[in-house]
Amino acid sequence: MIKIDVDMAKCQHYGQCVFEAPNVFELNNDDKLEYTATAEDSERSNVEAAIDVCPMQAIRIVE
Ligand code: SF4
Repeated sequence: MIKIDVDMAKCQHYGQCVFEAPNVFELNNDDKLEYTATAEDSERSNVEAAIDVCPMQAIRIVE
């Protein structure tokens, strides 16, 4: 399992992460980001891709 943290003070809800890791990140009906705090190891590469594309550098994997 990996643990995911998004700094919601930085997140601007652009949603790029949703395209990279749709099993972890989603925009809710109010266009606000929601995400799962943990994910299977198989999601790591997707989450790393989301980290790379996040324009606010708001996402991190908590080791
Ligand atoms: S890509 Fe970054 S700024 Fe955009 S919704 Fe995801 S965490 Fe927030």
